[in-house]
Amino acid sequence: DHQGGFAKTVTRSTCCYCGVGCGVLIESQDGRITGIEGDPEHPANFGRLCTKGRSLPLTAASETGRALRPELRLTREARREPTDWSLALDHVAARFADVIERDGPDAVAFYISGQLLTEDYYVFNKLAKGLIRTNNIDTNSRLCMSSAVTAYKKALGADGPPTCYEDLELARTVLFAGSNMPYAHPVLFRRLEEAKANDASIKWIVVDPRRTDVAALADLHLAITPGTDVALFNGMLHHMIWEGLVERDFVAAHTAGFDELKALVRGYTPNMAAQICGVAETDLLRAAEWFAASPAALSLYCMGLNQSSRGTDKNLALINLHLATGQIGKPGAGPFSLTGQPNAMGGREVGGMATMLAAHRDIGNAEHRAQVEALWGVSGLSARPGLPAVDMFDALAEGKIKAVWIACTNPVHSMPDIERVRKALRKAEFVVVQESFLQTDTVPYADVLLPASSWGEKAGTVTNSERRISRVRAAVEPPGDARPDWWIANEIARRLEARLAGPQAHDCTSKLFGFASPKDVFDEHRTLTIGRDLDIEGLSYDRLETDGPQQWPFPADAASGAARRYTDGVFATEDGRARFHTTAYQGVAEPADARYPFRLLTGRLRDQWHGMSRTARASASFNHAPEAALSMRPEDAVRRGFKDGDLVTVTSRRGKLVLPVETTDDLPSGTVFAAMHWSGQFLASGGINEATIGAVDPDSKQPELKHAAVRVEAAKLP
Ligand code: SF4
Repeated sequence: DHQGGFAKTVTRSTCCYCGVGCGVLIESQDGRITGIEGDPEHPANFGRLCTKGRSLPLTAASETGRALRPELRLTREARREPTDWSLALDHVAARFADVIERDGPDAVAFYISGQLLTEDYYVFNKLAKGLIRTNNIDTNSRLCMSSAVTAYKKALGADGPPTCYEDLELARTVLFAGSNMPYAHPVLFRRLEEAKANDASIKWIVVDPRRTDVAALADLHLAITPGTDVALFNGMLHHMIWEGLVERDFVAAHTAGFDELKALVRGYTPNMAAQICGVAETDLLRAAEWFAASPAALSLYCMGLNQSSRGTDKNLALINLHLATGQIGKPGAGPFSLTGQPNAMGGREVGGMATMLAAHRDIGNAEHRAQVEALWGVSGLSARPGLPAVDMFDALAEGKIKAVWIACTNPVHSMPDIERVRKALRKAEFVVVQESFLQTDTVPYADVLLPASSWGEKAGTVTNSERRISRVRAAVEPPGDARPDWWIANEIARRLEARLAGPQAHDCTSKLFGFASPKDVFDEHRTLTIGRDLDIEGLSYDRLETDGPQQWPFPADAASGAARRYTDGVFATEDGRARFHTTAYQGVAEPADARYPFRLLTGRLRDQWHGMSRTARASASFNHAPEAALSMRPEDAVRRGFKDGDLVTVTSRRGKLVLPVETTDDLPSGTVFAAMHWSGQFLASGGINEATIGAVDPDSKQPELKHAAVRVEAAKLP
């Protein structure tokens, strides 16, 4: 993939931001990334890029602010000092071995990231589960996709969307639920816009409390009261059932549990559901009819459904609509969860979460554990589920977990109720932070800082929202002593394997960590997928090189990956039938009340990414939204005597922060909105997660980052 002239090189790779997974051509010269173009041959974007993707070279241009050397401190009071790799790797392995031998394997934990490559994820997962034998490895994908994962498994029998990007062009009705695609998945949204421009009969329905950019373009905007999605979907299903819009043959042949669901939704009359949701009954009826009567109805959903203490039910209630109307397994139709991060999918594939094993296997399933033990050549994989993100940091704060290794993520910004995370990291005996950037809110807590290669400097694979695996390639060398994440994990794993004794001892001939390249890791990962729903035995690096990015499943004898799943109506459950679930509506974890009268919603801006550790390096990222703000309806602001630009304190039961007010008509009254991006690195009083709540969904353990009760008062400035 290195083509080109004397000094300029073009490297084919993948954008590192969102789950669209756009192909890019990186231009480099003299060891510097100098330009970027969309890859015209990549089937996700066909050459397009959004503003975030286009600004990547600007963010990669400088060594300033990068973690360049391993650093370590021997006591909490000391400053971290630069050291060499050998000492840093030995030190981490020794401290982890000490804790494991003293307090057992569950006294250590790993908190990793949907921005790691599949190969990075694989090595971390094998290190935790195969070597240490703890399942305490979770990822920021817990904050992003775990409700979608749980619902796919419960309803369809396996994780992963049944749809593909081509369905964006083939859908006749598109239901956007809690997804502002023009901001979060811009390149895919352009495909939808073009399809609608070519066919005005395509209907867009948007379910979102806010009048987002996509809501403003919709044929029907259901501005529901925050958190009432389940009531809406149940009310829509009620109307479909009683108006004869259900696909009875499909339900009879391919599903189970419809009668129980029918009994439940009997109580959700459209009138009642519309009242719960705060929308017009006629709009609810219209949405149900457009969806059920459409030749192809596609749902696109994201954090608005997932980041909720009822996230699994919200996903399931939406999937119920697809199953009841047969809108699944055919072109242009299906439930399509859009992944936020570039490789949340790859992390799920290797089982890199506290509740999973490799290749969509389950920790609680003895047969699955035995399969992984045989494939890894180990014994005694732990059957105890690991602690998901919120519980993991709580266990750290309680002293149950003593040592944590955080890689490629910034929990002191992104977790709900950040003060809980700060307390946990202060209490921890030993904190390892593996990072590319120095200025994150988590780095100050590191006893050891391990400098990681970043985008453009490392190789591997990622899987995008449509199950498509793309190569990521290095265009330049990493700065300083930074190294790829898989390499760092692999080196420490080798040292730890040698140190562990007693019940944790392994046969050193097992060569658990004999990987010499990302390709070695990928080849082992492929082996673990054989015979599983995501079988990629046929998908080698060579195949990706010659045939380009491919979707899974891709078994050994396949000529290409599968664009859609369940096209034969056979689902991944034991009996092949999809499952309806009885989803009763329950409200948000923390309703607004007299003391905390505003509903705080959170979300993304168009040109920023997560905690801005990368996007803030390009001034162009601030053109769209130059500063943090608290959005509020004009009449709510007037009632409290605020005008645009006034500084206000946003206070919840957990914490507070100060933001300038920005009035907008795009919110319902009694609701305020703040972007998730600005952190304590940018705002003296901290980011929005000072105020959010750590309440989690009972099944997926995903926190309710999108809703908390707050009060808003004039800021008292010194
Ligand atoms: Fe990157 Fe997503 Fe933009 Fe594509 S749409 S360029 S993957 S941020």
